[in-house]
Amino acid sequence: MKITIVGTGYVGLVTGTCFAEMGNNVTCVDIDEQKIENLKRGIVPIYEPGLEAMVKRNVANKTLHFHTKLKDCLDKCNMAFIAVGTPMGEDGSADLQYVLQVATEIGKHMTTPLIVVDKSTVPVGTADKVKAAIDKELKKRGQEIEFHVVSNPEFLKEGDAISDFMKPDRVVVGTEDKQTAEAMRRLYAPFFRSSMDRMLVMDVRSAEMTKYVANAMLATKISFMNEVSNICELVGADVNKVRVGIGSDSRIGYSFIYPGSGYGGSCFPKDVKALKKTAEQEGYDAQLLNAVEDVNDRQKFVIANKVIAHYGEDLSNKTFAIWGLSFKPGTDDMREAPSIYIIKKLASMGAKIKAYDPKAIHEAQSHYLKDVEGISYTNTKYEALQGADAMLLLTEWKEFRSPDFIEIQNSLQAPVIFDGRNQFDGSRLQELGFTYYQIGKK
Ligand code: NAD
Repeated sequence: MKITIVGTGYVGLVTGTCFAEMGNNVTCVDIDEQKIENLKRGIVPIYEPGLEAMVKRNVANKTLHFHTKLKDCLDKCNMAFIAVGTPMGEDGSADLQYVLQVATEIGKHMTTPLIVVDKSTVPVGTADKVKAAIDKELKKRGQEIEFHVVSNPEFLKEGDAISDFMKPDRVVVGTEDKQTAEAMRRLYAPFFRSSMDRMLVMDVRSAEMTKYVANAMLATKISFMNEVSNICELVGADVNKVRVGIGSDSRIGYSFIYPGSGYGGSCFPKDVKALKKTAEQEGYDAQLLNAVEDVNDRQKFVIANKVIAHYGEDLSNKTFAIWGLSFKPGTDDMREAPSIYIIKKLASMGAKIKAYDPKAIHEAQSHYLKDVEGISYTNTKYEALQGADAMLLLTEWKEFRSPDFIEIQNSLQAPVIFDGRNQFDGSRLQELGFTYYQIGKK
């Protein structure tokens, strides 16, 4: 198939590259000229395991192309995917301006029948808006060209994006048109070689809703467990044991019940807000979602509050080593990362910060922490510890799981660890003489 993907961020680039890998002829379009120039040379702007090699391979095979002008890419195109950002608008709803700009462009320039696919996360009713925007442009041109708008939300996880896309748990397709459903089935068939059962075709509105509900459910699990961790701490229970105790119940399961410093990233915060807003627009107060957000906002500061409880309000002669900046391991993405809130809080109280992250330092320096006074970055995790008063672990990168505790002890001024992700064995650290703070256990 000839496919155009509009937007080459995490979702668009991975989607386009994986479709190209299966033999389709894909063109990825972005208005960011520098990004497209780099991609043409095989330079991938984001860190995503396996992506760069796959991009290079498909560019070399001429199955993957990059372009800055959508109008040049629609001729004889079978499918156009909209994969641009849907950031949080001022009132908390999803900002659809980029999606609708693309729809308008498609309407202006399409020449042959087309399936238009909403890959971006968009609220219920967006497919109707996309259709209206395209119809309007076709009408202006006095043209009647057949097109269908499909909802095909993306469920990939940053850090595992390639394997999630290549071996999806499910692919949700929202369309009421049989031929369009069949075309989507053909497109995704190579990803489901054993069975097509995981391709779920439904009506457009349910497909749009499914994406928000999936993210809201995951955010709810995280906030629930964080709430529980705070109660555990108050009553003298150990949330790590409680987690295993409940996870062993097959109705509950182990996934997504790890306590920590709250959820972040480009999706959960904005998608929970957008779902709340959708409910509000219908006159419904989504109380549980309100609580999910409130708990998360509070949770980001739990570890900073432990630091303050240990050292007092004046941190002006303290230096903290930070291990981990990205919102989760496996990515350089720092959007809404809890580390931003924790570091800013400590820096506002006078603390100096020495930060290390395997992938996200550039993001921190150039954007998210660029205004923070007293922050410096190191090339290794151990360098960050030199002369610091304590270490704070904020992202559970694998390289932090089993560090050399003797080296940590020798490098810090005093052996104190604040673990915002419950990665270490508290009793072992105590034996080694550490003061160890974690989430959900005194
Ligand atoms: P992103 O911000 O990384 O990338 C969006 C890209 O779209 C940018 O490169 C931008 O330059 C480009 N763009 C904007 N307007 C354009 C236009 N008119 N024409 C061409 N390009 C344009 O976004 P992302 O993280 O890939 O997310 C895209 C969508 O997918 C969002 O709705 C998001 O909620 C959803 N989503 C994201 C993830 C994730 O893990 N990042 C997972 C599932 C779904």
